[in-house]
Amino acid sequence: MNQQTLVLIKPDGLVKSLTGNILARLSESKLELVAAKMVRVTEKLAKEHYKHMKDKPFFNELIKYIKGELHDRRKVMAIVYWGPDAIKKVRQLAGETNPEEAEVTSIRGSYGRITTKGIYENVLHASTNPEEAEREIKLWFEPDDIIVDFYPTEIKEISKLKKRAWA
Ligand code: GDP
Ligand code: MG
Repeated sequence: MNQQTLVLIKPDGLVKSLTGNILARLSESKLELVAAKMVRVTEKLAKEHYKHMKDKPFFNELIKYIKGELHDRRKVMAIVYWGPDAIKKVRQLAGETNPEEAEVTSIRGSYGRITTKGIYENVLHASTNPEEAEREIKLWFEPDDIIVDFYPTEIKEISKLKKRAWA
């Protein structure tokens, strides 16, 4: 069954110039890349993305990490992959959450580390199930950013919308 899944190349992955390596490893999945962009992560977006982690002792550090505050590089690369069994395939290539426990040949096992402060720098995020993927893809992307229409859309007239525009 075709699925879609969100991948984020986290700030440590970008700082270490691992983008190409990570994309090459993910391409082993033979999944289709249907959306990709660089994102400046706001506090709001970071907290919304990790809202299910808010009671964890490492939550504040996690928010700083995904915002890029720990790496002086305030951006992540957000990607949507689509195809058969996408969620499982990407999670398998990514490896375990704890980079020290991840299989050494996995992406996290190859490139991740736990810092002396105890932060899991595991270079990428990958959705864990279809519900999470839907929530996350809709959080990070607009319908027109994605070249496959897997979620229903509608035309809405949005008035009084305030957004940044070219001056
Ligand atoms: P994931 O789906 O494999 O990314 O793992 P989770 O959804 O459980 O956690 C989200 C993120 O929080 C992880 O990718 C890590 O960056 C971080 N994290 C999870 N568990 C721990 C932990 O025990 N300690 C620390 N320091 N960070 C963690
Ligand atoms: Mg998770």
